[in-house]
Amino acid sequence: MTYGTIATWRMAHEGVIKAQDILKKQGKAGDAVETLINTVEAYPYYKSVGYGGLPNEQGIVEMDAAYMDGDSFAIGAVAGIQNVKHAVSVARSLSDEHFNSFRVGTGATQYAMQNNFEIVNMLTPRAKKIWLNRLAEMREKNLNPYDGHDTVGAITLDKQGSMAAATSTSGLFMKKAGRIGDSPLSGSGFYVDSEIGGAAATGLGEDIMKGCLSYEIVRLMGEGKSPQQACDQAVYPFIEKLKKRYGKAGEFSLVAMNHNGEWGVATNVEFTFSVGNETKAPRILMANPGPDHTTSIAPITQEWLDAYEKRIKTPIN
Ligand code: ASP
Repeated sequence: MTYGTIATWRMAHEGVIKAQDILKKQGKAGDAVETLINTVEAYPYYKSVGYGGLPNEQGIVEMDAAYMDGDSFAIGAVAGIQNVKHAVSVARSLSDEHFNSFRVGTGATQYAMQNNFEIVNMLTPRAKKIWLNRLAEMREKNLNPYDGHDTVGAITLDKQGSMAAATSTSGLFMKKAGRIGDSPLSGSGFYVDSEIGGAAATGLGEDIMKGCLSYEIVRLMGEGKSPQQACDQAVYPFIEKLKKRYGKAGEFSLVAMNHNGEWGVATNVEFTFSVGNETKAPRILMANPGPDHTTSIAPITQEWLDAYEKRIKTPIN
């Protein structure tokens, strides 16, 4: 049996390397995906996931996360959870429960506290400065709070043939208190079936939910489409439909992997991701929408990587 990992954004890369290492040594898909997401959650310079994530309008970091086991379909999720270092681990723990497995707000935070998950103030001084600057800017220019998109979403496949999916995000910067995106919602932010494959999303949750895009990709793979065909067929016609019937479509991107370790992506915006399988070591690639409902994929350049590194660490005044 083969193994593999795919995850959204350049920020997932170090986690993908760790996940692949676990999988190579016969580790479980669930452990690999949790380790991957934990790695992103712990890195303070990623301002859209975990520690260092940007807060809501009121300056409070509210996070959403989910975990799904592709063998049993068990799902655990949290939304609007606060002060918890690893929201995805709380979600994974909840996936053991048949009832009460999706918790929001104080109920989610209480569950984490009662079950000894690490509690920390997730608002870093850097994130607070970005928030204060944005508040001033919004007041001056009447700006839309939505600014870029960056959830970490990942799919893993282990040598035993099991698959797992997970997501973690601090959601839209400057979101209203209590706003929840697609990331903790099964079928929208993620979905996985070990006999078929899995998919995960990043981007404007309000629009991803309208198409249940992760489920749709898995459904198409189940009909025999390759992950790339499934991504292209689920995502691009839906964007057109959305523009026609809703009047607009936000930015979003999806990644998918099937139970053979083959993968695909679709996006309506420049989008980086990290992927590895048995035959190819993890690498960062860049996707863009191509002509006629296709996706063009190219290796990332060193120049891009250097500029990224510089951008995420730029001092904030
Ligand atoms: N999908 C996330 C949400 O809507 C945001 C993102 O990926 O940036 O909360």
